[in-house]
Amino acid sequence: MLAKASSSAMAYLPCTRVKGGFCTLSGIRHNFCRKQFLYGFVTFLSRPFKMLRGGTRLLGGVTPFSCSTSYMSSTLQIELVPCLADNYAYLLHDVTTGTVGVVDPSEALPVINVLNKKDRNLTYILNTHHHHDHTGGNTELKARYGAKVIGSNSDKERIPGIDITLKDGDRWMFGGHEVLVMETPGHTQGHVSYYFPGCGAIFTGDTLFSLSCGKLFEGTPEQMLSSLQKIVSLPDDTNVYCGHEYTLSNSKFALSLEPKNVALQSYAAHVAQLRSKGLPTIPTTLKTEKLCNPFLRTSSLEIRKALDISDIADDAETLGAIRRAKDSW
Ligand SMILES: [Zn+2]
Repeated sequence: MLAKASSSAMAYLPCTRVKGGFCTLSGIRHNFCRKQFLYGFVTFLSRPFKMLRGGTRLLGGVTPFSCSTSYMSSTLQIELVPCLADNYAYLLHDVTTGTVGVVDPSEALPVINVLNKKDRNLTYILNTHHHHDHTGGNTELKARYGAKVIGSNSDKERIPGIDITLKDGDRWMFGGHEVLVMETPGHTQGHVSYYFPGCGAIFTGDTLFSLSCGKLFEGTPEQMLSSLQKIVSLPDDTNVYCGHEYTLSNSKFALSLEPKNVALQSYAAHVAQLRSKGLPTIPTTLKTEKLCNPFLRTSSLEIRKALDISDIADDAETLGAIRRAKDSW
């Protein structure tokens, strides 16, 4: 399942996922193929109805490249934009309507550079939470492009330049794409995640990282557990775009807790290989995270034993203990 795929750069990768099922290629293989090209595009074609996601994935041989999932009219491209030391902003481009957005611009310049290169304007700025390393570019980008800033209603006093406030369960349209707003507190009280069901993509900010979760600056273990449970209730093949490239360090911590987890061993080796080449480990998938991320594996007896947590401790208590161990690791 977690074996590495060959890197045939010009190949068509058939993806035959149907209604609730899985692609014929594993999520890891898809990710591996996508990451052959540093900071390339991921392109999705989303359907008008949620009956089926998946289809044909095309792997291009040059940068930027396109990974397409089949069928319908509206196309969303997602591009990683590295910012600061280890942040990712994400540039969203709905090809059909020309709508362009950026998720969590830590700083303006890297985003402006990409927009200039592609001769694009900026329509929206989406913030997952108020921290400066996720909103630092808001003011300059808004002034330059007249973009509207989107964020949580409960963080309207803390997100610079906010124009449109959303709350849990709101459905908002980005170009032709439905966006479901999910309140995911724990790291901060006003943290939200943006789920694009038609594309199978979620932007989780500092709530869910690959192989970890955010620090509990404002919330409780119970809140973080509830937020993570909301996210992992989405389909396993959902692509997760988080706020930081922390995966390699996280993999070492995860392996210290669960050294016998074969899926984790394989994923950690894959992550180390990507990072040794300077490639991003994002996006990950919910399937991979469920198999490997210790914060989603609070029932693991191996993890509980490693941290001397009682077998009868509840999941929130266990998550809190894992978080404390990670904070001092
Ligand atoms: Zn944060």
